[in-house]
Amino acid sequence: MSKFSGEDHRLAENEATWIDQAAGTPLQELSADALRVLASWYFDWQKRHAYTAKYYQQYGEGGRAVFVAERLAILAAVMGEEAFGALATAKHTEWVQACARTDAALRALAPCVTCGRSPDLWAEMDKSPLCGKCRSGKREDDEDDDWLL
Ligand SMILES: [Zn+2]
Repeated sequence: MSKFSGEDHRLAENEATWIDQAAGTPLQELSADALRVLASWYFDWQKRHAYTAKYYQQYGEGGRAVFVAERLAILAAVMGEEAFGALATAKHTEWVQACARTDAALRALAPCVTCGRSPDLWAEMDKSPLCGKCRSGKREDDEDDDWLL
């Protein structure tokens, strides 16, 4: 099955509602603005997904993540490298800034009483003195978060 099948190049039902166009419209016929709205939606979804994984250690919706990545690849092809690249850069900057804000908020919290690591956002919500890893007893085998970027 090719991920670039003809059907994939048409506007899906849910996508149609984001840009107020008819479902089934070929993506190639959409305006640059409409394409940017679609791609932004998927970038934002990726960002929420990565944020949840990074700060809440919740790794769900793997199938949806694959779908979103494929949809972005199609939109990249339709939009062209320049327009898509500019949006990708802007979205990446948003992501870096969101992480920086959250990291700063986390640094303001007291470190975990067991391991001294920065607590996670769950600890903040629970008012727990332990980081998520100590609370769950998990080993620290997922230090490298680079794949999120
Ligand atoms: Zn800890």
